[in-house]
Amino acid sequence: MLPESKEKIFQTEAKARQLLKERGVSVNDIAELVYFLQKDYHDGLTMEDCVENVEAVLSKREVQNAIITGIELDMLAEKGVLSEPLQSILRTDESLYGIDEIFAFSIVNIYGSIGFTNYGYIDKKKPGILKELNDKSNGKCNTFLDDIVGAIAAAASSRLAHRSANVE
Ligand code: MG
Repeated sequence: MLPESKEKIFQTEAKARQLLKERGVSVNDIAELVYFLQKDYHDGLTMEDCVENVEAVLSKREVQNAIITGIELDMLAEKGVLSEPLQSILRTDESLYGIDEIFAFSIVNIYGSIGFTNYGYIDKKKPGILKELNDKSNGKCNTFLDDIVGAIAAAASSRLAHRSANVE
């Protein structure tokens, strides 16, 4: 048997990955965002490189915590079980709320300040899976998830950039 603390760590990672999958986000979807952000800066960048860096970000405890908290809140809002005013704020993805971005920053922070530039850029462009997550016509609530996914991609891009700077 694992000690309780170790068990909890595995549980958190498994839950975070399961929730992403349930909400329609794959590691590959996030890796494609990394590719989008980094392709012009690294010759011969492959999807495998992008996947590897996304996996590394997903293995971080603080990232897993942001995922399980944010997605849980999205799902509760979707079910309509939160109390007001939070229920309406999350359901309508109110632009001045800003706590979803705070979650994102807690992820982006991990690999230093270049993550913020990447996050801002991708949040504005909304390529790939981010466009789908922002589609409000399907009854889903992804108020936290879109920022979390963008932040994971931004953090993975920073990790990739730092690594290649050390190699080259
Ligand atoms: Mg949001």
